[in-house]
Formats: sequence, structure tokens, C-alpha cells
Amino acid sequence: MLVFILNAGSSSLKYQLMNPVTKEVLASGICERIGIDGILRHEFEDRELKLDANLPTHKEAIELVLRTLTSGEGKVIDSIDDIQAIGHRVAHGGEAFKKSTLVDDSVIEKIEELIPLAPLHNPANIMGIKICQELMPDKPNVAVFDTVFHQTMPDYAYMYALPYDQYKKYKIRKYGFHGTSHYYVSNEARSMLDKKRNTRIIVCHLGNGSSVTAVLNGKSIDTSMGLTPVQGLMMGTRAGDVGVGAIRYMMKQEGLDIDQVTNIMNKKSGILGISGKSSDLREVLEGMQQGDERCRLAVDMVAYNIKKYVGSYVAALDGVDALCFTGGIGENSALIREIVCTGLDGMGLVLDPIKNNKKKHNARDIATNSSAARIFVIPTNEEYVIAHDTYDVVREFAD
Ligand code: ADP
Repeated sequence: MLVFILNAGSSSLKYQLMNPVTKEVLASGICERIGIDGILRHEFEDRELKLDANLPTHKEAIELVLRTLTSGEGKVIDSIDDIQAIGHRVAHGGEAFKKSTLVDDSVIEKIEELIPLAPLHNPANIMGIKICQELMPDKPNVAVFDTVFHQTMPDYAYMYALPYDQYKKYKIRKYGFHGTSHYYVSNEARSMLDKKRNTRIIVCHLGNGSSVTAVLNGKSIDTSMGLTPVQGLMMGTRAGDVGVGAIRYMMKQEGLDIDQVTNIMNKKSGILGISGKSSDLREVLEGMQQGDERCRLAVDMVAYNIKKYVGSYVAALDGVDALCFTGGIGENSALIREIVCTGLDGMGLVLDPIKNNKKKHNARDIATNSSAARIFVIPTNEEYVIAHDTYDVVREFAD
């Protein structure tokens, strides 16, 4: 069984070819600059193939990926017939989708109806699905949503304290994202804990986009992102939580309209906005070491924001059994982990500085032996969740 995993963005397209049973990845890659010119980076057997290509639309990009998988230097399978199913990452499933779903016309219609909630992402995801249906008409497509894992949040956690009509009319509420990552990491953490009942886990997914989730007995009960991914933590270019009064004042002072201010909050804020240097934490850490005060401020703000969410989720969970770090920052930055965990001894979270500073790539426990709760670093694997869900849905449908 091989699953082709597709994550279609507005001008890029990430893919993987994976066996969902053995977790073996045969190839992975990305098409970038779609609609501009086009580049394909294709990784297979520890090698990378880079191709400049003419990719006017996503259709040419997917055609090129399928050609590369089945022929020439990057070939890993004999024909497209070796692919049994296609798993699509879809950003927003709203309240309509509570699990990963086999795609048919009515599913596409429902994802289209959710476009106002995710105007940047859902259209690209739908495009990816439709092109695969056209190019591989006999293969099942499964939609795996970023929001589904958080559909278990109780109403008092997901509601905004706006007039109730706003929820009734437009479904304005918190949805949360990074669901496949929070699911994968919390599930791994549960298997690493001695305790099997009443498990209270906090997952910090820290990448270019970041979110924290409180997971009780394997179910998300709260998460830091909201109706859209801009809410919550300070991120690479997203502002996170900012009071609406400050936004309104900035709009008035600068004469900005709603689209301009949304663009600023999504693309020009966060680590980039504060440091003025980069959205990439590595570069900002370097800046800090060279004495750049705004880089120092950005790093302190990032860590402080995470720590505040961790503290509030210990309260939401009535305690904590494991705090998990994942994503590019969570997996690699010992400094951010250290600042976040400093002073959390009273909550039962005691970091071991030696374990924290060891450069390793596997899932590991970095708490002291006597720490009441565990602190885990767990590399995320969102593609595995997409491949596995796709496999499960297709098997269920075949039975
Ligand atoms: P995405 O959300 O796009 O998948 P990643 O999960 O790859 O992103 O995370 C990217 C972030 O991880 C960047 O801010 C990058 O600087 C940071 N990062 C990667 N390696 C390190 C490292 N060794 N130390 C600090 N930050 C790192």
C-alpha cells in the first residue's frame, strides 16, 4: 500500500510517497514558484534532485511530480498504478468535518463552503483534490483536516465572548490548527508515559506557525489558535494575541483598511516584526548573540508567550503529566525550551539542562529523573498521520 500525500498551497505544493504501515518514505519534495516559473526539489534514497520547470498552474506541477516519481533519475515506482490512494492536507474543516473523509462531490462542496473561514488555504487544497481526480480518476482521495483534532474542545473553550448570534449565523468560534501534529505528538507522548489513564499532555508545536494544545486522555480540550491561525502565540510572521483596541488604533493612525491590517498581522509581525531582521528564529538567535537588542526582545517574547500558554493549560488540565516540544523550534532550540521551563518546578516540570542540550533527533525525555511530570522532545510526523488516516478511511470504505 502506498499513499501519495499532497499539501497544496497557493504557489507551492509539498508531497510525499509513503507506506502507511511501515512508515517508509519512498520520496518527498516540493514544487515552488508555481504560476511564476517553477522549481521542483525531489528527495529520494538520501539524494536530492533539483529541476527548473515551467509550472504555470498546479496541474503542471502535479503532472511533473507524477512523472518524476515514475521515470528518469528520481524514479521510485514503476507506474502510478502503484499508488493506492491520495491523502490531502486540508486547512479548514469548520464544524462540518469531525474526522478524515473520503472525497466525493458533496465533500468538495462542503470544503468550498468553508472558504470564507480559510480564504488562503482551502481554495488551493480543493484545487489539489480536483487535479488529482482528473489525473488519477480511479484513485480514492481522502481529505485530512488541520482542524479535526480540535473538534473535541468543549463549548466553553471554543466560544468567543461575542454576541451569540455571531456564532449561530456565521460559526464564528475557535477552531485551532496543526491538528495532525498535535495528535501525533500527544499520541507518542501517551505511549512514552507510564501512566495510561487520565493523561494530561501539553503539546507546543513551534515552527514558522506555532500553537499550543492541551490534550486530556488523547482529546484536545483547548488550543491557542482560533478561527484563523493568526491567534495565539507570536510566530515567524504572525502577531498572535493582540488586543483589538491596539489594532483599531493602528488602523486609524496609518489609514489602513481591513485587508492591509490583516496582511500586516499575518505576514509582517511576529519574530520578523519585532526583530526587523528575519522570521527565522535561527537568524534572530544569531543576531541576539551579536548584541542586537531587538533580536533579544523577539527571543524573550517568543519564549514568554509559550510559557504563559503552558501555565494556563496546566490549569485547564488540572495538572500536567507531560509537556512536549515539537516543530523546527521545539525540536531544535534548547534555549527556547530552557527559558519556557525555567521556574515551572512548582508545576512539577523540572528540566535537566544536560539532557536538554544534547543534540539528538529521536523522541526523548529531557526532564530530571525526579521531575513529577515528563518533558519530551518529539519530532512531529504530520505526513504519517495523513497517510495513516487515508489508509484507514480507504479500508473502511472497501469493507
Ligand atoms: P514550518 O512551520 O514551516 O514547518 P519548521 O517546523 O521547519 O517550519 O520550523 C521553522 C523554524 O524552526 C524556523 O524559525 C527556524 O529558525 C527554526 N529552527 C530550525 N532549526 C533550529 C535550530 N537549530 N535552532 C533554533 N531554531 C531552529
